[in-house]
Amino acid sequence: MGDADVLDVLVSEVGPRDGLQSVQRAMPTAAKVEWIRALAAAGVREIEVASFVPAKLLPQMADAEEVVRAARAIPALTVLALVPNLKGAERAVAAGAHKLTLPVSASRQHSMANLRRSPEQAIDEVARVCALRDALPRDRRVGVEANVATAFGCTLEGRVPEDWVIEIAVRLARAGADAVGLSDTTGYGNPAQVRRMFARLAREIGAERVGGAHFHNTRGQGLANVVAALDAGVKTFDSSQGGIGGCPYAPGASGNIVTEDLVFMLEAMGLRTGIDIERLIAARAIVADALPGEPLYGHLPDAGLPKGFAPATARPRES
Ligand code: ZN
Repeated sequence: MGDADVLDVLVSEVGPRDGLQSVQRAMPTAAKVEWIRALAAAGVREIEVASFVPAKLLPQMADAEEVVRAARAIPALTVLALVPNLKGAERAVAAGAHKLTLPVSASRQHSMANLRRSPEQAIDEVARVCALRDALPRDRRVGVEANVATAFGCTLEGRVPEDWVIEIAVRLARAGADAVGLSDTTGYGNPAQVRRMFARLAREIGAERVGGAHFHNTRGQGLANVVAALDAGVKTFDSSQGGIGGCPYAPGASGNIVTEDLVFMLEAMGLRTGIDIERLIAARAIVADALPGEPLYGHLPDAGLPKGFAPATARPRES
């Protein structure tokens, strides 16, 4: 295993957060930790392990502190936590998260329904979290990434104007976010839109501050959207093992894009992820055992690797 700097693309696993928060049952803490360890052992370098929302709202995330602490003990892993507000950020920092991610919904209706805040108020909250970051001693400084949710459309509002999405991203960068990503929370996005939006984002905030692309595969556009985002220079992609979580609005559709399929595609395209596909697939068993009956998605795990497949990560780098 090499260092993060030899990766071409960073695959940021969000299953333990985005996946599990959409599953009704709570995965036992021990299983979460075992799963996170198995993912890290397969070479996953960044995992969004928990969400610091009140346990009353999301009982599946009641053990966020414990999970972050356990993940912190894994070497060479960036431990990411989703935080909805300053209070959540304080908890995540105290537990030892390396990096915080804050969703800011571009859709006003979605923002009010999910965060009970307007997009403008959510941007102010990001500024407060950035102030918290800046007040930390240097060796405990966390990364702050903001993500524009419903950036490609909204189940409540339908079309979300692109100018408004970019305007929010610019305001988030000004508020001090280290990086700003775009999320297709609803699986509405298409590749042409994704290419256009990420290219525009890079022009507006600078390529070095473009954060992750977060796609859901609700309408089957997930990997096509990844290729479009790669074309626009995106280097970090969120995905979840087994695409767990599903989509409450589209029965049978997976949730996040499937990590196994994403890693296979990237490695087949010659892009290093640092992830061992066989070990990644083996980690599915932990999810299947801990959540019996929960559907796991993915084409690669069903079909297997092509004969003679040579992943980019295993090939010596040409100099
Ligand atoms: Zn998501």
